[in-house]
Amino acid sequence: MVGKITIAIDGFSSTGKSTIAKALAKKLGYIYVDTGAMYRAVTLYAMNHNLVSFDDFDWEALVRCLPSISLTFKFNADLGFAEMYLNGINVENEIRTLEVSQLVSKVSAISSVRKKLVLEQQEMGKYKGIVMDGRDIGTVVFPDAEIKLFMTASADTRAQRRYKELIAKGDTVSYEEILQNVVERDHLDSTRKDSPLIKAKDAIEIDNSDLGLNEQFDKIYALVKSVSSIN
Ligand code: C5P
Repeated sequence: MVGKITIAIDGFSSTGKSTIAKALAKKLGYIYVDTGAMYRAVTLYAMNHNLVSFDDFDWEALVRCLPSISLTFKFNADLGFAEMYLNGINVENEIRTLEVSQLVSKVSAISSVRKKLVLEQQEMGKYKGIVMDGRDIGTVVFPDAEIKLFMTASADTRAQRRYKELIAKGDTVSYEEILQNVVERDHLDSTRKDSPLIKAKDAIEIDNSDLGLNEQFDKIYALVKSVSSIN
């Protein structure tokens, strides 16, 4: 039995990775890191500096700007999770728009962007006791993680979830454009050259299309108990 462990959760977009990761981190008293928020924040920076749009992407200029992009998480006790700050400004809401979702996969395919963020993620997890979710956590960021999960669900289930979230926030979006984004992002994330989204050989796959949150949590928590020294 070991003490604190590293839990890596990867999977397609809107598979509920962050919901389960947050719940696990809370129960275990672990740090939770949403790496998608970091890629989204870099994308927002690129959008704000007119470096990326639907038609153009000056990725070389973005790479030159990387040293001036500072990403930090600050815990918000009211919300119960850490919010994303870009150069000292809280961007938690801005990074969740459909526009950012539509551009993020272009930005996250750039190797220099990945290199910067992966190093920062490894630093955050160097003492273990961390639940991190993303696309390459079990394969690249923490290949030695004690627990690796790979979450999947049907594209329709995932688009429904994301659509409800955005509508609840007051965004004007259609189900069709959300579905299109989910499918497109899966394709781009899985086919990029650097760190494509793939299931690590030793990851446990969880299809949660028909699984409730409690059921999923119990299943995963039992797994955590079997490899770490918690009771
Ligand atoms: O998890 P979320 O949907 O917020 O991630 C947004 C995007 O960030 C993904 O579609 C992917 O392009 C990128 N990403 C990544 N590697 C990670 C986390 C996210 O490439 N570890």
